[in-house]
Amino acid sequence: MSKDTYSPETQMLGYGYKPELSEGAVKCPIFQTSTFVFRSAEDGKAFFEMAHGKPGNEGREMGLIYSRINNPDMEILEERLRLWDGGEAAAAFSSGMSAIATSLLTYLRPGDLLLYSNPLYGGTHKFIHHVLTSFGVEIIGFKAGEGREEIEARIEQCGHAKKLRMIYMETPANPTNDLIDISMCRDIADAYSVGKEKVLVAVDNTYMGPLWQHPLKHGADIVLYSATKYIGGHSDVIAGAVVGTMTVVKPIKKMRTVLGTMTDPHTCWLLMRSLETLKIRMETAARNAEKVAAFLLQHPKVDKVYYLGYTSFNNPDQERIFRKQYECKGAMLSFDIMGGEKEAFTFLNNLKHIKLAVSLGGTESLAEHPASMTHADVPFEEKQSYGITSQMVRLSIGIENPEDLVADIAQSLESVVIPVSHAVEKRHDLLPA
Ligand SMILES: *Cc1c(COP(=O)(O)O)cnc(C)c1O
Repeated sequence: MSKDTYSPETQMLGYGYKPELSEGAVKCPIFQTSTFVFRSAEDGKAFFEMAHGKPGNEGREMGLIYSRINNPDMEILEERLRLWDGGEAAAAFSSGMSAIATSLLTYLRPGDLLLYSNPLYGGTHKFIHHVLTSFGVEIIGFKAGEGREEIEARIEQCGHAKKLRMIYMETPANPTNDLIDISMCRDIADAYSVGKEKVLVAVDNTYMGPLWQHPLKHGADIVLYSATKYIGGHSDVIAGAVVGTMTVVKPIKKMRTVLGTMTDPHTCWLLMRSLETLKIRMETAARNAEKVAAFLLQHPKVDKVYYLGYTSFNNPDQERIFRKQYECKGAMLSFDIMGGEKEAFTFLNNLKHIKLAVSLGGTESLAEHPASMTHADVPFEEKQSYGITSQMVRLSIGIENPEDLVADIAQSLESVVIPVSHAVEKRHDLLPA
């Protein structure tokens, strides 16, 4: 077996790092430096020419210049990040938002049309609606669950069909776990691509990646991550990442150098450390989530559970996408408590172990109220139409003992008094047959 065919979890322990360049240190040190010494002025000149893409240095190895441009920790981290998705290249960022903003600013110009899925992460929603539109980018949204004809009709109706440049999506959608067919979006993008002007498909894979969904395999060009979530995984760093082909990632890295949205050496080092345990953390969290979801499903005070294992009940299209696109049911779930905000808040306030906090993908379990917290800024009618109601609670399941998680949820649900008007019959269409 050649070195490159080892599994990603094996590669996380050493890939891309040469101990002989670092005094034989087993682990990659933190190169906590802003700038690098050139061996000669000629070297410095050549490195800058290469950084600016000037011809004449083909076959020469790029050297280290300055940590906004390159740094060993960032380069090794990127070599490891790209492996999970089978990408040719990766770029590390100071946050998920800086990865998203830098990528969209790289590829969108005034007059271009961006098609995006709903619901979206709040920060992304704001960036698209308030920043991109102020630069003259045209935007139209579509909902998870809509088919190709519906989406193409929207594109045709908007009056900018010829300017479609990118389709951007989050699947599973946060917090409802609704699924979008990535290869269907690839087909739409191809149908609107003219010659060399390829319509790009971008997927924010934070919710399920990089383990359980691999968007590049379904035709995506750009995979985006908030590395703050599963990749970092310990709720102690803010970071982001982009994965794709060399051709797609290179311009994004150039824009990153200009904007200064790269990751600092210490954060890169923390992320490399996190990647060593990524698989075991995510697998444990997913096993726990399955137990928590099963408990919630049968609980009389719980109306509906939004969990990948359940959202496809009686929904053949969601079932088809789930089977094609996902390797696991994940560790993110939401549920509707019988009642409204008052009952949801009582539940959140009475949790003893699970922390009341936004964010996700950490070792510890977290609970939050999407309608008033992560999705506070989404207009009320829009929230209703996506199913983000006042009765919804979102859970990010961690790596604790699952019995402890279920016990905490059970005791907190006990403190909730369901008003008679809300104590409805459990919806049988949402239960397994
Ligand atoms: C958290 C998150 C982001 C933003 O990432 P930051 O690291 O907080 O900037 C983007 N997309 C999704 C799906 C997220 O959960």
